[in-house]
Amino acid sequence: MSPAAPSTKVPVLIAGAGPVGLTLALELAWLGVACMLVEPTEASSGNPKAKTVHQRTLELFRRWGRELPAKLRAAAPLGADFPSTILYVTRLTGALIMALHNATPADSSHRLSPERTMRIPQSFLEPVLREEVRHTAGIDFRVGWKLESFEQESDEVRAEIVHTASGERQIIFAQYLAGCDGGRSTVRKQSGIGLTHLSDIKQALGGVFHAPTLWSTLAFEKAFHYNVLNDDLPHLAVVGPLQPPDLWFFDLMGVDPSALDAAEIVRKAVGRQIPFEIRHAAPWTVHNALAERYRAGRVFLLGDAAHLQSPSGGYGMNGGVGDAVNFAWKLAAVIQGWGGEALLDSYEIERRQFHERALAETIQNSEDNELVTRGLEDPIRGEDLRAALGDRIQRTKPKNFQSLGISLGYRYENSPVILADGTPSTPYETSRYVPTGRPGHRAPHVWLPDGTPLFDHFGQGLTLLALGREVKYSGLAQAAEACGMPLTVLRRSEPELRELYQASLVLVRPDQHVAWRADVEPQDPGAVIDVLRGAASQAIH
Ligand SMILES: Cc1cc2nc3c(=O)[nH]c(=O)nc-3n(C[C@H](O)[C@H](O)[C@H](O)COP(=O)(O)OP(=O)(O)OC[C@H]3O[C@@H](n4cnc5c(N)ncnc54)[C@H](O)[C@@H]3O)c2cc1C
Repeated sequence: MSPAAPSTKVPVLIAGAGPVGLTLALELAWLGVACMLVEPTEASSGNPKAKTVHQRTLELFRRWGRELPAKLRAAAPLGADFPSTILYVTRLTGALIMALHNATPADSSHRLSPERTMRIPQSFLEPVLREEVRHTAGIDFRVGWKLESFEQESDEVRAEIVHTASGERQIIFAQYLAGCDGGRSTVRKQSGIGLTHLSDIKQALGGVFHAPTLWSTLAFEKAFHYNVLNDDLPHLAVVGPLQPPDLWFFDLMGVDPSALDAAEIVRKAVGRQIPFEIRHAAPWTVHNALAERYRAGRVFLLGDAAHLQSPSGGYGMNGGVGDAVNFAWKLAAVIQGWGGEALLDSYEIERRQFHERALAETIQNSEDNELVTRGLEDPIRGEDLRAALGDRIQRTKPKNFQSLGISLGYRYENSPVILADGTPSTPYETSRYVPTGRPGHRAPHVWLPDGTPLFDHFGQGLTLLALGREVKYSGLAQAAEACGMPLTVLRRSEPELRELYQASLVLVRPDQHVAWRADVEPQDPGAVIDVLRGAASQAIH
């Protein structure tokens, strides 16, 4: 490290302003913790990458205010009413294999969540988040800077950041370092943390093309994905509208990028001569892997730095936003003095469960994508082959997109900071979400009689739901106050709420997960609060 470089102190240093680092910075700022966010690139890369933002991700953003989901809806190039249709075709001008309508979980009745899954490419989402970061007090956003190296002592991390254009260097003293620096994470590598569960490494080629006549040339209805299978392509190619009327994206996994170029993929997927121009094309690598550990002392890994998965399922970016929210309130609690070390350890214990499940789903989804069938355009056998393949798609694929059982139904078992109540777990199935107030689960969404969602009434810290007119909670409130834990009490008398949560007292964490529930106050409310804030082990109960 350069000894003479100027230095700055900051509570949290975040490396990487992808969706995860941006979310972490915004969440910390919202909770009143200052941070520095360093990011070498001026703008997000040309590949639109993630295109589906789960409703769970939007629920988490909505905690900062309803404006952000509204800004994202406004920035979404396909618009809110674009059909949720996925077509399997031989070419964009060829034959239909299978149509999946309402492919992503629309929940159009808003029964399960105040937000709806949104189609917005990551390359449109990131600028909105960057703009938020720029206008949020408490975030020192250093664009053009990268984390070069770091070392840690027992009480701080000493990091060196470099301005990539000028070579200027600075030393940052931070209480904690968050590695949100993506799949090739410098933070992970310099922490000596390897990858485990490594499987399924594939090369892929993806990008964006401009095709002013493609909409009018298409043989099919509007869809957000046209999954193309034919004898000229080595694997399933995905083509879809990026920004109407003339920008499209394409992705082909399992291809040697030196053997098939971007223009060839587009030509073979479209199937007819049309004018088009490749605007961006770059190879990328599909990995399935988890970091061996998500923590090394004062250094934490989040997002792709901690877990890598193929895009099938949409758990990469969405899962990373979940990491940032799970981690941020715990870190804020420790920095602000009311949280204990067990809170920080619980980050990996809780999130790894989600990542392992998401990885298993992703691997299954990738296997279900092995749909290559020769002869689909054969004039004699083609029709039968398409029908058989269509049946198979109908049987296996819908659950890949309809994954509410995972995206809303994920839960944290055996967490040191959640008090289980002995009730059995609800089914954990890909496409079936069963709302439950069982500790460890996402608190169920409810519309209140005034038309607002229950979630909008939760506080920034923990929320105590007191469900019923008579229920007493003063011991819990006093115990929280005594240790400085921010607690909002929400008293509601609707019997349906008590019925849904199956308890009269429910403690909900800042990430909207239930941490404890019971019908009456515990004999020792302080002991319960101490477990939830990571200041005592569960052995005392
Ligand atoms: C084709 C494709 C389709 C995808 N589809 C989906 C989908 O539908 N749904 C989904 O959820 N996910 C999807 N993903 C995955 C998703 O894009 C990633 O999971 C997501 O980008 C991870 O966000 P991140 O912030 O962790 O990392 P990244 O987005 O990789 O951001 C890391 C940031 O760190 C910066 N950085 C790197 N090194 C340093 C350093 N030394 N110092 C400071 N900064 C550094 C980088 O410049 C970058 O901006 C897809 C990915 C691809 C490639």
